[in-house]
Amino acid sequence: MTEISGTRTLHRLIYTSRAVTPPEDLDHEVDAIVRTSIRNNRQTAITGLLLVHDGWFVQALEGPAEPVMITYRRILNDPRHQTPRMLHAGPAARRVFANWNMCARRMSDADDAILSTLARRTIDFESLTAASALRLLRVIRGIQLRTEREMMA
Ligand code: FAD
Repeated sequence: MTEISGTRTLHRLIYTSRAVTPPEDLDHEVDAIVRTSIRNNRQTAITGLLLVHDGWFVQALEGPAEPVMITYRRILNDPRHQTPRMLHAGPAARRVFANWNMCARRMSDADDAILSTLARRTIDFESLTAASALRLLRVIRGIQLRTEREMMA
């Protein structure tokens, strides 16, 4: 019963924004965002994926509708980024991102594989749609999972 009502209220929100800090100085700031996000998102059952690339943020947030919207409102007010553009917000049948993850320069072994994949594509972050952003984040999560599996083997 709990699971059924949880599924019904599951929401996914996807947005893009631009980092205020230049890419070469962003690592420290991203570390702080990750620390806060892990703490807060765990408490509110929010999962998702945050991509940091080329001065852009692309994030998917998944969880119960209310915490997702409250978190997004906090994120909107954050001075560390600008011009947020919400691509999608609505009910989701299931979580695509079962944990909270992120991908940024040099943060993990998977990031190297992701960066070389991203380098082979031209991503027009300004024109991302809900579908193309979700596809991009899914590809990244796939690479992360593959790398995790390879490291455990
Ligand atoms: P604390 O971390 O204790 O911060 C207190 C206040 O100080 C907040 O208003 C915060 O915005 C501000 N602040 C902290 N550090 C800085 C800084 N270096 N420069 C300017 N202001 C600062 N939060 C989540 O909970 N989950 C997420 O998934 C998430 N994703 C994010 C993605 C992006 C791209 C960005 C930019 C931020 C994200 N955040 C996320 C952080 C979010 O914007 C809030 O800062 C955070 O949720 C506030 O949490 P807190 O109340 O525990 O505050």
